[in-house]
Amino acid sequence: MTEFVTTTPAALFAAEVVRKLQTAGYVAYWAGGCVRDLLRGETPEDYDVATSAAPDEVRHLFGKRRTLAIGAAFGVILVRGQPGEGDVEVATFRTEGPYKDGRRPDRVAFCTAEEDAVRRDFTINGMFFDPLTQRVMDYVGGEADLRSGIVRAIGDPVARFEEDKLRMLRAVRMTARFGFQLDEPTARAVTAHAASITVVSRERVAQELKKMLLNERRVVALTLARDLGLLRVLFPDWPTESIDAWQPVLARLSRLVSPGFPLALASLWHDLAPEVVHDLGRGLRLSNDEIGQTVWLVAEAARTHGVADWSLARQKRLLAEPGANDLIALVRAGREAQGQPTDDADFLARRQREWTAGEINPSPLISGQDLIAAGLRPGPRFKALLEALRDAQLNGEIGTPESAIDLARTWIAGNLRGV
Ligand code: ATP
Ligand code: MG
Repeated sequence: MTEFVTTTPAALFAAEVVRKLQTAGYVAYWAGGCVRDLLRGETPEDYDVATSAAPDEVRHLFGKRRTLAIGAAFGVILVRGQPGEGDVEVATFRTEGPYKDGRRPDRVAFCTAEEDAVRRDFTINGMFFDPLTQRVMDYVGGEADLRSGIVRAIGDPVARFEEDKLRMLRAVRMTARFGFQLDEPTARAVTAHAASITVVSRERVAQELKKMLLNERRVVALTLARDLGLLRVLFPDWPTESIDAWQPVLARLSRLVSPGFPLALASLWHDLAPEVVHDLGRGLRLSNDEIGQTVWLVAEAARTHGVADWSLARQKRLLAEPGANDLIALVRAGREAQGQPTDDADFLARRQREWTAGEINPSPLISGQDLIAAGLRPGPRFKALLEALRDAQLNGEIGTPESAIDLARTWIAGNLRGV
């Protein structure tokens, strides 16, 4: 029998949780994703335990202070480890009652391990593992599907997606993440239910989308989501159906190396108006920060042409932005996707290498206070004056506070530059 690597602090702690439950007379196993990952030879991110012990029995066994009732209604108790060990979610074996809303079960009932296995989503996610005996408990054919690389709904796929529409996105994400095939009947059931993905909360959709995009196989995930008809339902204002609109999306996305979420989104929505991108981000209930970064990238990418002819000030102001690296990557991917030269991206990247941080974003030569101290009268145009002086500084036209004040006086005297 294969021995699984279960010697990390998190694994040792999760095994200890199982041992304690078993010693107290309960059935307890590792369950779900961590079993799948172990069988794939990967180190699980976290360990979930499934047990015959009821939630209050779990709390009693581990003590109130070390536990947290995070999903008491569903029988989930968090058992907290020492720093470095992580926490373990201990869930009582459960079956789920009817799903009236396609999102969450109306009630749960505690049950056996086998019944708990069949309420899980996919066969590869439906296995248990006893870390003490190193035995796999597989009631759903998960091992075989893991070996053949298949994501398959447990039971009747149509019924399973009817119960919980989020599983459609999970199917896409799991299939892409592991480079698996989506089982045919399971895929057909997604297509049949794609229109109802809208009942899933937008936060959860966003979470799934984010996980898909942060994963290396992001192109596979997006392709599958589109092919199954999910994208057009989720994003009616983003034309994904026409191949002319879609092909550059994939071309851009495939050229990004480990993009963050905003950059990945900006590569998808690159050809849309910034206002539309803003609304798409709002629609997904993204944070203001994520929306702001994404919109900024799309808007700036559309403006980033002929940068070598820009003033030094404009170049420097752009490179001083926190999203500058992402912007360069986006502009490059955009040009490559269209078969255009990448000079703009190359130019900005070279400037960024050659200039020091102090050259790109030097301390201002003077402040508004300095102007007032020099006898200039404060007024509504002060801000514009300071910005113009900043440009002059970045352009290398002035280098000292005195020259800045002289220039300000000249401008005011001649009413130059509208100041
Ligand atoms: P990841 O590595 O992304 O966390 P995971 O399989 O552990 O993958 P979780 O969301 O942590 O995914 O869920 C843990 C387990 O709970 C799954 O492996 C699966 O058995 C079950 N599960 C999660 N979501 C659902 C769902 N929507 N329907 C049925 N079972 C689910
Ligand atoms: Mg998990």
